[in-house]
Amino acid sequence: MPKIYTKNFLKKVKQNEKCVVVTLSEDNESEVLNMKKNKNKQKAIKCPYCGAKTVIRDGTYVYGENSWIKKVCVCSRYPECDSFVGVYEHTGLPKGTLANSELRNKRIKAHKVFDSIWKKRIMDRDSAYRWMKDKFGLTLSQAHIGNFSDYMCNCLIDECNKVLTNNDCAQGVLL
Ligand SMILES: [Zn+2]
Repeated sequence: MPKIYTKNFLKKVKQNEKCVVVTLSEDNESEVLNMKKNKNKQKAIKCPYCGAKTVIRDGTYVYGENSWIKKVCVCSRYPECDSFVGVYEHTGLPKGTLANSELRNKRIKAHKVFDSIWKKRIMDRDSAYRWMKDKFGLTLSQAHIGNFSDYMCNCLIDECNKVLTNNDCAQGVLL
């Protein structure tokens, strides 16, 4: 089996001319191989509904000619499997997990009622996200509706409605 070395490791070897023979123990070798496998796994996003590969396509593919979303990450079985998510233009990374139409609509509703908390100036936007993360025990990077399940969206809508009611504002979305 060929030996695989990390780039940093090889750099260290090159810097040290006295080092002639380099070997990795079996354990290290399998560790490096696993690291490489995991790296590839992270890149390949599978559709969470059917397990098929996903592909990056123009937003027009799912939203039609007037799409304001430039790129989407979409199930390769679309439209048979109606599962996709928008992609950030600057990083090329998905804006969350892939969602079917039911979950996409639920996330839109959850965002609307959550946004009304800072739009009505009950809290500023940053504070609203901090409130959300504390409420559900999330890290700030996890406090992202694009990653929320249907259940989490319902919990958020419920909690946001309580905040709106307590501040004498009409509820955003009724469950
Ligand atoms: Zn799919």
